Amino acid sequence: MRVSFHGAVREVTGSCHLLKVKDRHGVEHQYLFDCGMFQGESLCSDKNLKPFGFDASHVEAVFITHPHADHTGRLPKLVEEGFNGPICMTHPCAPLAKLVLEDAFQIMSEEAEKCGSSVLYERDDLIKTFSLVKGVGYHEEIQPAPGIHIYFHDAGHVLGSAYLSVEAEGKRLIFSGDIGNDDVPILPETEPISRATAVVCEATYGHRVHEPVSERETKLKAVLEQTIVEKGVLLIPAFSLERTQELLYAFDRILETQLHTRIPIFLDSPMAIRATELYRHFKQYLTFTTPVLASADQDFFSFQNLRETLTVEESKSINEVPPPKVIIAGSGMMSGGRIMHHLRRYLPSPTTTVLIIGYQAHGTLGRRIYEGAKQVRIFGKEVEVAAHVAAIGAFSAHGDMHKLTRWLTPEDGQIPKKIFLTHGDAEAKEVFATHLRHTLGTEVIIPTFHGEEEI
Ligand SMILES: [Zn+2]
Repeated sequence: MRVSFHGAVREVTGSCHLLKVKDRHGVEHQYLFDCGMFQGESLCSDKNLKPFGFDASHVEAVFITHPHADHTGRLPKLVEEGFNGPICMTHPCAPLAKLVLEDAFQIMSEEAEKCGSSVLYERDDLIKTFSLVKGVGYHEEIQPAPGIHIYFHDAGHVLGSAYLSVEAEGKRLIFSGDIGNDDVPILPETEPISRATAVVCEATYGHRVHEPVSERETKLKAVLEQTIVEKGVLLIPAFSLERTQELLYAFDRILETQLHTRIPIFLDSPMAIRATELYRHFKQYLTFTTPVLASADQDFFSFQNLRETLTVEESKSINEVPPPKVIIAGSGMMSGGRIMHHLRRYLPSPTTTVLIIGYQAHGTLGRRIYEGAKQVRIFGKEVEVAAHVAAIGAFSAHGDMHKLTRWLTPEDGQIPKKIFLTHGDAEAKEVFATHLRHTLGTEVIIPTFHGEEEI
């Protein structure tokens, strides 16, 4: 088996790994694991437009770990370049991925027009991509060729997320995708690994230790109370998928059991509203820790204060509502979407709080605000930042150093012989690699872009 790395090598985004593996008869096959987009300042960045580094028409099947754009965003480009096989993902992942890709296409088209660059792919490629999607169950055996077995296992990162195991040539290789945080209130725990020869592992927070998930509600409640006292605006840039639903779940609990207030909470993101509908639909894949609420309205993502603003008119009407108020809107890294309008309007006010609950990639507006910029550029105009910026790390959707290390240390005692670290900034990977070499005493490799490694 050989794996080559065509994204998420020098950064967190763009996951795309090509596996070359022999079947029982010695015939070599090529499968792709994730086909993500590089995310940052602009979707029409050179990196996404550059060639994949392999021939798309030679790929026989694609396996998608989860719907996030940094794991799915280049799928239509792959199709445009001649890929014609099945795109396998879990059942809940399929409609979520469709939502993500539709949204990415919309943003990309708008940006391409603005920056005068060419688009990554056309709408026809997107439609063809959807036609190739095949929903599969967790633990369902997939045998793309004789003697090659592939399985999806729950990664506990978002609804429908998976890590994948490949059994062939007498070895067992695991692609982590994104590994979820510990004790996430609505998701199942990450399944433990076993008998792995090698693991391609994400390292987003391999250098960090998160605050416990139990801190979420306490901190969120404190920020909410402060907003009420100051009669301010609480802006929460949130990823539409998962983070928004976890946030709604936390608000649901706070408002139904701890804090009785009429402060309106706007969910101002068509994509988040649609994703929340899918979360309601696939609730059998989720785990809820609060049976009391289960008997109330059977809906963990709705409460009296919540107002979903689907249309542009509804979104604009939020401006008319006097503070205090809470606005949840995308994008999570403040690189587009309706949050931009709210940031432009409310960043200059000292009674505004921007609450950051997710990873902010280098080059994004979110990163600049997170790092304390006093002035930022939005829609071509300089905007003063007088707002208070707060962050709750406990909302992280990724496991930290301890979680990842525990996951890589299987109960059967079979430590993987090789661990390849991807999906992390240089510092995160270096620190985590040193930690793993020391703790597990195994070979840890930081792959190079387009580089190929033997398993
Ligand atoms: Zn992810």
